[in-house]
Amino acid sequence: MLLPAAILLALVAAAVGLFARRARLLYRLVRLGRPVDRTTDVPVRLEREMTVVLGQRKLLQRLLPGLMHAFIFWGFLVLLTTIVEAMGQAVDPDFALPLIGHSGWLGLLQDLFAVLVVVGVCLAFAIRKVQRPERFVGSHMQEADLILVWILGIMLTLFALNAVRIARGMAEAPAAWTPISHGLARAFDPMSPAVLRLYEPFFLWMHLLLILGFLVYIPYSKHLHILTSSINVFFSNTKPRGYLTPLRIDVDAPDSDEIRLGAATVEDLTWKEALDLYACTECGRCQSACPAWNTGKPLSPKLLIMNLRDHLFEEGPKILDAGRTSSEIQRTPLVPEVIDEEVLWACTTCGACMQECPVDIEHIDHIIDLRRNLVMGESRFPPESAALLRNLETAGNPWGQPQSQRAAWAEGMDVPLLAQGEQAPEFLYWVGCAGSFDDRARGVSRAVAGLLRDAGVSFAILGPQELCTGDPARRIGNEYLFQTLAEQNVATLDGSGVTKIVANCPHCFNTLRNEYPDYGGRYEVLHHTQLLAQLVDEGRIRPTQRVRALLAYHDPCYLGRHNDIYGEPRQVLETVPGLSTVEMPRHGSRGLCCGAGGARMWMEERIGKRINRERMDEAASTGADMVGVACPYCLVMLDDGARARGDEIEVADVAQVLAMATSGERLVPSE
Ligand code: SF4
Ligand code: SF4
Repeated sequence: MLLPAAILLALVAAAVGLFARRARLLYRLVRLGRPVDRTTDVPVRLEREMTVVLGQRKLLQRLLPGLMHAFIFWGFLVLLTTIVEAMGQAVDPDFALPLIGHSGWLGLLQDLFAVLVVVGVCLAFAIRKVQRPERFVGSHMQEADLILVWILGIMLTLFALNAVRIARGMAEAPAAWTPISHGLARAFDPMSPAVLRLYEPFFLWMHLLLILGFLVYIPYSKHLHILTSSINVFFSNTKPRGYLTPLRIDVDAPDSDEIRLGAATVEDLTWKEALDLYACTECGRCQSACPAWNTGKPLSPKLLIMNLRDHLFEEGPKILDAGRTSSEIQRTPLVPEVIDEEVLWACTTCGACMQECPVDIEHIDHIIDLRRNLVMGESRFPPESAALLRNLETAGNPWGQPQSQRAAWAEGMDVPLLAQGEQAPEFLYWVGCAGSFDDRARGVSRAVAGLLRDAGVSFAILGPQELCTGDPARRIGNEYLFQTLAEQNVATLDGSGVTKIVANCPHCFNTLRNEYPDYGGRYEVLHHTQLLAQLVDEGRIRPTQRVRALLAYHDPCYLGRHNDIYGEPRQVLETVPGLSTVEMPRHGSRGLCCGAGGARMWMEERIGKRINRERMDEAASTGADMVGVACPYCLVMLDDGARARGDEIEVADVAQVLAMATSGERLVPSE
């Protein structure tokens, strides 16, 4: 008994030592990262551990690969007990877990989950080798295969060990509770006791060696996620997905840490961004959902994370060594050495990658941090975006139109205009720059204002006092400009005592609701579809006129995925007489972006298929003759897409459809 105990102890000590050595390096690399607070909202974090990690919620959204992963994951949780048993039996062959070791239910669970792990591994091979989904392009397939074979080895040695022990009359659980192990034990029945005595330690030590080897291999491999994904989920952002962490720029404190202008080198990543890199499973779910990747752009959110991870492992240890020896090393710029500039500009910040990612990696934060450095640190951005930034700085809106024209869309409508410092009514209608200056989007502003007025809602607009919320500046990476606009708008809103805002642009809505609180602006912010749904429900808006159309509703990313508002726009449409609706194949949380978010509205789309065209092709495939939207960017982009297709599909905002149903007037495009 002493010799096996000594061998086991030596093996465990070696494995734990190697594991700890690697874990220490991984920890120190994460500690290189910049600070970010992820300690609040602990109940939400614990709830995510229960649902996303233990419940495998995100993975089970796709049944077959979800079940595959869940079988292996749950199986390993249950089989932790068999690992302890095997270690105990290496020292004392009669070892059983105290209290529960001989219970039938534990034997049944172990038997069942051992089979499920094998089924999971077989499914994984079937998916990888037979189905071969495109999402695995670029992943380390050979290493993943090795890990699967390793897991299979662990399970087969476990089954063999159990079967031999049963054949030797050493079963822990009653036969009726472990039918699989007892069934397998029959294969060993013809063998003599002497042979079985040899087989038992052979399978036992093989099993233990495979487990200890696995423990050592995983933290050194690209499949580190097995150890880190649950930690990453715990520390993931608890704010709405559309929220960006501010980069406070205090120009009066130039030496402050806060002056960091995004991520220039690997040291500029936050510790959470570094942790994200460890957690990637290379599953490619983000890649297969990405509108940029799917339309032929060079951006793959998966490859972005993998490349950053490889670079962290390459350069991180050198930085740590340099810190230890007080020497200097040349830091590699992340762009373009690790990530190509085109990759960054291709992102629409649609959030599809984050929605799909089973380990809650925050791709948008990475991309925006890299953009921030390019824009603010190096003045590098697509040339056509120069006008956007210039217009925001000089005119307060991306169109570069005079502020005096802000309320021109409302001419003849008798829309109340709030004077500077005047007390606001119940609602401040935030029109947004598109709704103020884009001809097509102005139609939406007129529809919203008309509906609110007819419903007797007490509201006013800011007119020339309203500046761009700063969303496009922030998403392109100019945090300083965003901060300036945000502070001015908050001062205006607070100056009039605004408490409730209704916005018809989801980008404005997201910024006002989720991001302005960081700048002192705390308001109750509604999207116009939410308020309209409420007014229809209360009978204050009565859609009585028929609108004969088959409408496919397109979920705007900043309304749906970023703020979980899917129901109200559909609720409004359902009340419209004569209107039939149809869903596009990609809808709801899986809706496809229109291509305009992330300041892409002001960038050329030179590579691949245009995203708006892709979306309109999808809309047309449903047979719809109208596409409903709830965002002025989507309105413009999809209308352009329809025109490019040369077909008759009409694109209209939910408010415009509702206005048609109340007034009986056919929608007249403003152009
Ligand atoms: S936010 Fe959208 S466009 Fe950007 S990487 Fe993710 S899926 Fe792709
Ligand atoms: S980032 Fe997330 S979704 Fe994308 S490959 Fe990695 S784990 Fe999968």
